[in-house]
Amino acid sequence: MLDSVRVRLTLWHTAVLAFVLVALSLITYFIFWRSTVQRTDTNLAELSEAFLTTLHAEVKDQSGPDALKLAAQVAITEHRFRDHVFAIFDAAGKMVISSQDVPPMTSAVDSAPSGLLLSHSFQRFLDASSHSDRLFGEVKEHKYGYRGFARHFSSEGKAYNLVILQSLHPQEEMLEGVTSTFAWVIPIAILLASVGGYFLARKSLAPVVAMSSQAGRIGAANLHERLVVQNERDELGLLARSFNSLLDRLGESFERQRRFMADASHELRTPVAILRGEAEVALSQQARPVEEYRESLSVLHKEAQRLTHIVEDLFTLTRADAGQYPLQPSDFYLDELIVECVHSARTLALAKKTSLAFDDAAEAPIHADESLLRRMVLNLLDNAIKYTPEGGRVTVQCRCERGEYALSITDTGTGIPAELRPRIFERFFRADKARSRSESDGGGAGLGLAISRWIAQAHQGRLELTRSDSTGSTFTAYLPANSGRTEFPS
Ligand code: ADP
Repeated sequence: MLDSVRVRLTLWHTAVLAFVLVALSLITYFIFWRSTVQRTDTNLAELSEAFLTTLHAEVKDQSGPDALKLAAQVAITEHRFRDHVFAIFDAAGKMVISSQDVPPMTSAVDSAPSGLLLSHSFQRFLDASSHSDRLFGEVKEHKYGYRGFARHFSSEGKAYNLVILQSLHPQEEMLEGVTSTFAWVIPIAILLASVGGYFLARKSLAPVVAMSSQAGRIGAANLHERLVVQNERDELGLLARSFNSLLDRLGESFERQRRFMADASHELRTPVAILRGEAEVALSQQARPVEEYRESLSVLHKEAQRLTHIVEDLFTLTRADAGQYPLQPSDFYLDELIVECVHSARTLALAKKTSLAFDDAAEAPIHADESLLRRMVLNLLDNAIKYTPEGGRVTVQCRCERGEYALSITDTGTGIPAELRPRIFERFFRADKARSRSESDGGGAGLGLAISRWIAQAHQGRLELTRSDSTGSTFTAYLPANSGRTEFPS
């Protein structure tokens, strides 16, 4: 049950509310009680003042040993109100007179219990008051509470202690009423709040539940479906939009993968069909001249080579996509690598009567994966020769500019149509499919530039088509000159 966010939210909400309500009632109770006590203390102090004024005035009119007692009787009669008890003690702690000894004027006046002045609580207060001039304190008799005030005074040269008690019964009754109201209001408030909280949590989380069941229904087959965004601006709307944009990205990558698979199988089907057809033709006749067999075998070999090439390229791209192509960097000279590649491509260039030249560059030390860079340069050279008509010219240059090597390969081909330029680095893209595939060397599958661009990027560089028009094209690979060690001995 606690696994449900709804229940947890409700419990938290209820617990916090219960805490706040209980704390609030305790604070209210405390403040109310304190102000009652303060008001009573002020009242007692004023009353004692008035009482003593009367007492002193009356003592002057009296004579004899009971002068104080008689004067006190007058003062008590004058100042006695309901719920007040007066008592005067001499220096030895012996009671001289108390209001309970003086008969009240009306029957309703004195409601204090008769044993109040004999109670333990009162005695304790009296003992404590003997040590200080003025003292406020609590006196309890049965269930009644009294606020007591004791002050010392002297009359006719003798010391006395005046004690006035004021009943707190009305205030206690009122507080009891408030407490019992709290006792049923708080549980009801908590119950209502928890029920309301539960429904609120359920209502707030309903879109999440709906979203999760919608999301649960989305799979590879209906990846185009999206979550319904009810309010774009709230947190749930944000969550739904994030989820939808994740689905967008997933959908795109799914589509890319699907296209990749479709293109790959399409590309593999052609050489496989040629292999099968050629083999069937060769086997269809009992005996054929040796030349014909050789011719068939040569076609089979060429197609097998093309197939191998495509499969290798596909494998490279798949590993690159998965981030599983480990670079094996080493220190070498880029200019030397270019010389080697130009040398390798010379045969191809000769076959097309194309001149191939490398404008000698300064030493170009680099820390990179040599075999990958070789593959990139050969791809670019291969393309340049392949897409340049007979008698053309291919030039290779390598310059060091602003901390990076700019390796450019320029040809005098017919160029790439402007509308196709943004797409030439896509996988399986061929500007002129018929021509590409019918090339005598087995043609390309449209993966060469995609792999070359990945190689440049894997070295924190980039590959760009820097120029292409009717007079030819230039591809430039920019590679950081400081990728790894800067200098190494030649
Ligand atoms: P392919 O295996 O077909 O050569 P690439 O990925 O190497 O595949 O190149 C993609 C396409 O870009 C080619 O089919 C071709 O149309 C175009 N292309 C590449 N290099 C050149 C170039 N130097 N001149 C003209 N077109 C080019």
